[in-house]
Amino acid sequence: MKFVGAHVSTSGGVENAPLNAMKIGARAFAMFTKNQRQWVAKPLTTKSIDSFRRNLEESNIEPKHVLPHDSYLINLGSPDREKLQKSRDAFIDEIERCELLGLNKLNFHPGSHLVKISKRDKDYEKRVAIEESRCLDVIADSINLAIEQTKESDVKLIIENTAGQGTNLGYRFEHIAHIIERVEDKSRVGVCLDTCHTFASGYDLRTKEAYEKTMSKFDEVVGFKYLMGMHINDSKSKFGSRVDRHHSLGEGELGWDTFRFIMNDDRLDDIPLILETIDSSIWDREIRELYSLKAKSC
Ligand SMILES: [Zn+2]
Ligand SMILES: [Zn+2]
Repeated sequence: MKFVGAHVSTSGGVENAPLNAMKIGARAFAMFTKNQRQWVAKPLTTKSIDSFRRNLEESNIEPKHVLPHDSYLINLGSPDREKLQKSRDAFIDEIERCELLGLNKLNFHPGSHLVKISKRDKDYEKRVAIEESRCLDVIADSINLAIEQTKESDVKLIIENTAGQGTNLGYRFEHIAHIIERVEDKSRVGVCLDTCHTFASGYDLRTKEAYEKTMSKFDEVVGFKYLMGMHINDSKSKFGSRVDRHHSLGEGELGWDTFRFIMNDDRLDDIPLILETIDSSIWDREIRELYSLKAKSC
């Protein structure tokens, strides 16, 4: 069974997220547990927590189908010591917020190395590889520290693949494998694949053959057992462009076929499939259309 939803607004309080999900006919949703553009947030109040839990129950959406997203400010691979510490502290705060809300996943982008390397540098490729590998190690250390400091928690830390814009890591399946390899408690990590990011980073999903090839590659390098969520977006940016620009379903470079393959792929059952498409006013329709693709011939 498929669980489709969208990244809904928490305007007015986190407790509104399940209500917003219900309004669009979602069976899953994503949300921020704090203002995603600020470092420090007020702790969640008991009132807000209770009302979130109540609304979630009313929505009939299970906690495992909720995929909270961390703040965009957090860089778990930052080369700046102070910013790295700030990021690590904020990340732990986010895990604790999920815990308080009765949720068991936290979705995050791996991080960026932020080192400028000129393409004219004769050792360009080598230098990039060194910086990337170093940064992936720092990210894994950050995850290990976070797990160590939230030992009692069952919140899984869900690494999202990226388009690879700028110096963002996570645009190769090997990056994700590298991180997981170094995480000590692997029962606490998972992966989220974003269709737009996958495509923009150079893994095709447009034909049945391309889709199967990309998914087999993911299974071979990372493993489906780690896949605990997906972001369902069409892409404004071209194949392999490494530019992260989402589009409404069917209107971008991917097209409806990709989403038909997804809706009929049993390996993607029982995980949150989350829209982050650009027009929230048509999410209800996009959700309905996705469900209607199920079982149609591929
Ligand atoms: Zn995403
Ligand atoms: Zn994106």
